[in-house]
Amino acid sequence: MDHVLVTGGAGYVGSHACKALAKAGFVPVTFDNLTTGWAEAVKFGPLVQGDLMDRREIDAAFAQYKPVAVLHFAALSLVGDSMKDPAHYWRVNVGGALNLAEAAVAAGCKKFIFSSTCATYGDQDGVVLDENTVQKPINAYGASKRAIEDILANFEAAFGLEHVIFRYFNVAGADPEGELGEQHRPETHLIPLMLDAVAGRRPALTLFGTDYPTPDGTCVRDYIHVTDLVDAHVLGLRWLLDGKGSRSFNLGTGKGFSVKEVIEQARLVTNREVPMNVGDRRPGDAAALVSGSQRAETELGWEPKHSSMGQMIRDAWAWGQKPEYKG
Ligand code: UDP
Repeated sequence: MDHVLVTGGAGYVGSHACKALAKAGFVPVTFDNLTTGWAEAVKFGPLVQGDLMDRREIDAAFAQYKPVAVLHFAALSLVGDSMKDPAHYWRVNVGGALNLAEAAVAAGCKKFIFSSTCATYGDQDGVVLDENTVQKPINAYGASKRAIEDILANFEAAFGLEHVIFRYFNVAGADPEGELGEQHRPETHLIPLMLDAVAGRRPALTLFGTDYPTPDGTCVRDYIHVTDLVDAHVLGLRWLLDGKGSRSFNLGTGKGFSVKEVIEQARLVTNREVPMNVGDRRPGDAAALVSGSQRAETELGWEPKHSSMGQMIRDAWAWGQKPEYKG
């Protein structure tokens, strides 16, 4: 069976990806420093505890497992934090990706899947965000991811590193089979914070701004179920292994939900009110980020099957009731 190296395989998206890869017949080798990931989420292949800032540790993983491809999930991913400490975001995200790309090329592993983000597009009022939209990030997180996209293009030109870039919209939900879910330390994401507030595990949710130029004044995002998102990665891996070459794909549903609409859905799913109050805008937040692309569907044959808001909240709510959940 072919091995694939999965950086960040102990994290939220990475662990779900490992499950999908194992189901598809690959051995996912998780490379993770466990600063934000969870060793117990690594259930589908070996765990290498290592740091992307240490090139020797990456080289050792390539030498031991000889992966046919790399899926690079490991990153700092919080918009708010990135605005407070941009240097840290540039150092870890860009430095880590650069080490990984160099190690992959040195090991002769030239298939690379990269988790990028809709935050690379920035705030583009009224513009349909497809893969050809000019990328103008407005926060350091998005800027660091955009820089890595450029690195991959340069590495392709210089060394033939073929890469698939996935620009994620807002990932949500949990494994519908209940084996995995979202848990961040600290948690900053809307849906888990909201459900924790409903469950009484956290104080009321604060709405970050109600004066955005959107229909109800709260930010609009395009939410995508984590299981659908990782299924696209398996298709992206096959795409690369079939020699189809480098390509970028948005991963979203094309449907936007405002923060208030998400809260209303949570009320319907849980049959409880969401305790909340209104706060200031969070620096770095775009008013609206909604994918306007069908490329993943038409070219990869991808089909989001679980991404109704109801199912995303139901699966996240079910995960939050499990004893393993450490929210
Ligand atoms: N949000 C909020 N309160 C919170 C957390 C998030 O109002 O406690 C809003 C946030 O401003 C954004 C949306 O919810 O508009 C989604 O934020 P999240 O952090 O989940 O994902 P991001 O869009 O930053 O990737």
